[in-house]
Amino acid sequence: MNETANLLKSVCQSVSKERLVNDFKRLGLKIGDHIAVSLSFKSIGYVEGGAEAFLDALLEVVGPKGTIMMNTYTFSFYLCKIPNDYIFEIEKTMPYTGLVPYTLTNREGSIRSRHPTNSVVCIGQMARYLTDGHDENSQPFLPYEKLAKINGKYLAIGIGNRLVGLRHEAQRKAGLFVVPIIQGVKFRDSKGKIKLFVRLGTPCVKNLPVLVPRLECLGALKRGNIGMASAIFGSVDKLVNLMASMLKDDPTLNLCDDWFCYKCRELERRLDLYNRIVSPKLFQRNRFLRTVLSWRNNLFLLEMNCGDTLNVPNWLMPISRIFGVFQRFIAKMPIFRGLHYI
Ligand SMILES: [Zn+2]
Repeated sequence: MNETANLLKSVCQSVSKERLVNDFKRLGLKIGDHIAVSLSFKSIGYVEGGAEAFLDALLEVVGPKGTIMMNTYTFSFYLCKIPNDYIFEIEKTMPYTGLVPYTLTNREGSIRSRHPTNSVVCIGQMARYLTDGHDENSQPFLPYEKLAKINGKYLAIGIGNRLVGLRHEAQRKAGLFVVPIIQGVKFRDSKGKIKLFVRLGTPCVKNLPVLVPRLECLGALKRGNIGMASAIFGSVDKLVNLMASMLKDDPTLNLCDDWFCYKCRELERRLDLYNRIVSPKLFQRNRFLRTVLSWRNNLFLLEMNCGDTLNVPNWLMPISRIFGVFQRFIAKMPIFRGLHYI
């Protein structure tokens, strides 16, 4: 037993499989449900039997006609920083999404999709349908798009209002993938060949928890507890479509207030959102600062994309690299940190 498990056992009440089953049912999970689960396992408390018992409880509640899906996301890198010695291989590469999804990949009957950065693992009735075609050629959040079509559900445990998985699908549907930052990874394809995979980087998600109380008001989600953790449960279709329409109607809801966030600063510039921001910060009100930040963003994109996606002369590349080092240095200075508050 590892240190964290020992600590949890000493300070928390144990959570049995029976209690998990009851908590799932109380929250609304039922036989035949197809559910995407995102979780912080340690927030549940000390689970007797560990990740295996947690999965047993989930599978008992949804039964053989139900399905469980979990993110098994893996690393992606800025185009200019893609390492040669890290190769994504579906059979070997560990996900960074935690112990439970990893444990599920080792269960008999589970299927992991082949997407090089946003793979998912599924078990149950619709596992094949949800993972089929989710590979280097598909959109990264395809399993969520498919889950919405079969009246799938979403369960978030112990991760607050961060609707991990759903949120990028909502941003995609809202048309917010507009900043041309390229990310990728080397991967081994189904024929064993090593290839380069690239995709558009995802928009910033720091401000998205503000959508959750609105979703709650609209009756799109239910709150409850699983063990010691708070949990959110709702329909994927409803949650994604409501979030997408909120973000489409008002893209300023996506904006965080960090001046250093090139994703949000570039999103507001490209969609010309300045006049729609309710309480604009100094760097959003002041035209001079806006121009400086747009230069900064372009140099940053140039540096990270190795100049590939912007039509710029080669001599700008070394300048963008020097600028990149400089701006990472000044971002840490207290005087610039203060820009968040003005
Ligand atoms: Zn941001």
